[in-house]
Amino acid sequence: MRPSRRIAIVGGGWAGCAAAVELTRQGHAVTLYEASRALGGRARHIEANGKTLDNGQHILLGAYRDTLRLMRLVGIDLDRAMLRLPLQMRYPPHSGGMDFVAPRLPAPLHLLGALWRASGLEKDDKLALARFSSTARWMGWRLHTDCTVSELLDRFNQTDRVIRLMWRPLCIAALNTVPEHASAQVFLNVLRDSLGARRSASDMLIPRVDLSALFPIRAAAFIEQRNGSVRYGAKVEKILAQRGGWRIAHDPQSEPESFDAVVIATSPWQAARLLEGLQHTVQFPAFTYEPITTCYLQYGSELTLAQPLFALADDADANEWGQFVFDRGQLNAGDAGMLAVVVSASHAAISLGNETLTQAIIAQLVRVFQMPALASPQWTRVISEKRATFSCTPSLLRPDNETGIDGLAIAGDYTSGDYPATLEGAVRSGLNAARLLR
Ligand SMILES: Cc1cc2nc3c(=O)[nH]c(=O)nc-3n(C[C@H](O)[C@H](O)[C@H](O)COP(=O)(O)OP(=O)(O)OC[C@H]3O[C@@H](n4cnc5c(N)ncnc54)[C@H](O)[C@@H]3O)c2cc1C
Repeated sequence: MRPSRRIAIVGGGWAGCAAAVELTRQGHAVTLYEASRALGGRARHIEANGKTLDNGQHILLGAYRDTLRLMRLVGIDLDRAMLRLPLQMRYPPHSGGMDFVAPRLPAPLHLLGALWRASGLEKDDKLALARFSSTARWMGWRLHTDCTVSELLDRFNQTDRVIRLMWRPLCIAALNTVPEHASAQVFLNVLRDSLGARRSASDMLIPRVDLSALFPIRAAAFIEQRNGSVRYGAKVEKILAQRGGWRIAHDPQSEPESFDAVVIATSPWQAARLLEGLQHTVQFPAFTYEPITTCYLQYGSELTLAQPLFALADDADANEWGQFVFDRGQLNAGDAGMLAVVVSASHAAISLGNETLTQAIIAQLVRVFQMPALASPQWTRVISEKRATFSCTPSLLRPDNETGIDGLAIAGDYTSGDYPATLEGAVRSGLNAARLLR
């Protein structure tokens, strides 16, 4: 192992935190620069209406191997921090959806059990799902040439109902891209590691604590207790090459600091700006972006749904936009009476404006749950992240972590890898960048 080096990480999202924790674990002295006042980037808490909310409701999968490992490393008790649910797609009983829940059986019996017991699906639908799973396994979850998810579903003869109730919502939730435009190969990668792996990998993990507490805050403590430091409100303006290392300039009032190596863990457009003038080889593609909207609705603390998570069938023609609803009160007593409704790939929903969208979501909830009390929340809050993730289209060329310059790597959910823009994609990218600097 190399002797301890001074390493700067620029950007304190989950990719930057992962790189910082890994390099700290290896014994290096890490300085983490974050432009905003809090770590976490796109997965962080915010304060609103006197409550701590997330800037968007997130869900993790049992397949998030590296994220879960790092969370454990920095001292998170996974069983306390998240609610673990078996793979499920459960619609409200009177909404014309389905009820699909994997029983606690070893893989692949859990899928067969879920299919066997699922209500709201016809025999043809169940056969289509079984066919998808067995064909994808037989293909080793690999396509010779990437195509859209819609084309893949067509090739696998999936029924309209299975597409509407299962594949479309899963694709939009996992890739934040509609099936007509989404990469079938990336979708298969996610399915391979969840549906195609051991049963616990397909579990859905819903945070009970806020997103900053789920990893970034503990990551900062881990770094600071081991000879490192975290700079908040520190937007790095320039990375300057110097003999045998780098200088980082973030504050015009103070001298740039010197480092042996740097990881740039920002958005791609910030990374491109910081790499300007350096002899690098990174090709940034012209990413397009997809928004995600979360509508928080606070009711009286006695209001509760029958389960912590329901799928909702969105239908723009019927002015129904919600795709999933989380009963936050079943996750954390402090959030009693709070629902979070998620709309992914939400361009059209955002164009309605917050007030109209909120009223539409409330009307949808009242209709599908047949609960008049849902009509009158005490307060509501819509949070839309316009550039939540890149559009995950077929054969998208994403840049490697290498920059072609010794001692300088990039990280972020947009770099090349098996996963779409997700927490696990960001964490794996941070770990890859850390490996390059070892
Ligand atoms: C609303 C929403 C819902 C989502 N839902 C899910 C989900 O359910 N499951 C899931 O797995 N994923 C989900 N994602 C995706 C996931 O949040 C992201 O993929 C992940 O957080 C990206 O992390 P990152 O570190 O790559 O980038 P970012 O989080 O963007 O981090 C980059 C950081 O760099 C900082 N920075 C930028 N420039 C500078 C500079 N010059 N100097 C210093 N710091 C700088 C930024 O402030 C930021 O903190 C969701 C995303 C959103 C927005």
